[in-house]
Amino acid sequence: MAISLNRRLWAIWQMRCPQCYSGAIYRSDRTMYQRCPACDLLFEREPGYFLGSLYISYAFASLILGLGMLALHFILPDWDLGILVLIVGVLFLPLAPTVTRYARVLWIHFDRWAWPDQTGTGQ
Ligand SMILES: [Zn+2]
Repeated sequence: MAISLNRRLWAIWQMRCPQCYSGAIYRSDRTMYQRCPACDLLFEREPGYFLGSLYISYAFASLILGLGMLALHFILPDWDLGILVLIVGVLFLPLAPTVTRYARVLWIHFDRWAWPDQTGTGQ
């Protein structure tokens, strides 16, 4: 169980397939593979499949922005909160693509863990 969890967490960190843990999910920074290059698992099971990843993306972004606000507020306690929000928002922008990629990877892993028998292979 612990080994399996470690393998899955490592696969998520490396953005690997939820079935074989070896095939890459992303071809490049912006482009996903439709199917796992190693085991042929279909990543996007249905149209609109990645809508669920938006919840994960929202949670990641909220966490990062909240922690960023806290940190900046401690560093610059006398600054206006509106300015701090603006600074944190601008600093977050370069992280947005990475947050989106990891949100999709997490969504695929969660979906395959929660509903492993639905379509997505051999189609
Ligand atoms: Zn695979």
